[in-house]
Amino acid sequence: MRIHSVARESIVDGPGMRYVVFMQGCPHGCPGCHNPQTHDPGGGFEIGPHELIAEFERELSENPLLDGVTISGGEPLLQARDLMPFVASVGAMGLGVWLYTGYRIEEIAGRGDPDELSLVSAVDVLVDGRFELERRTLESRFVGSTNQRIIERPELYIHTIRNFDDNRTMIITDRETEDNFRSRTIPEVMR
Ligand code: SF4
Repeated sequence: MRIHSVARESIVDGPGMRYVVFMQGCPHGCPGCHNPQTHDPGGGFEIGPHELIAEFERELSENPLLDGVTISGGEPLLQARDLMPFVASVGAMGLGVWLYTGYRIEEIAGRGDPDELSLVSAVDVLVDGRFELERRTLESRFVGSTNQRIIERPELYIHTIRNFDDNRTMIITDRETEDNFRSRTIPEVMR
């Protein structure tokens, strides 16, 4: 699979201290995107799923402060099948996974791609939706625009929904809510 880069310690891509994998390739073309260098599907570099697992195991052994893993991009769902072994291994290590995607959960469910459904079902939290410049927010650490939603345990919805009820998602727009979310979510994310 092709990835753009890895951030070994991030505090802006989910709760706590996280290891972040930025996937390469994105078809969405959101105006104002902060990661345009991830758009070219031929950019970045090639890494095998098991090589990435080994890299992360090494990192985790050297950094006990890591709380979890985030997969961002780029558009991770373009390489859903290749990501599955990594996500499964992180879960087996007792850490949670957040997944950022430019697709809304309704789009993913409606498309019905088995690899995408498996990946979304395997992560602890899905952050969905394209970045919308006119709805940009600086109030949230975890989303870039207010249309994006933080969906806990997406496996509960992904196989059944066609029209997702926004009331069943957490849309975090202020720091206080984020802090509450963080303290509430970490034990759940840390399986
Ligand atoms: S989905 Fe993310 S990486 Fe892709 S264009 Fe939109 S903001 Fe950029």
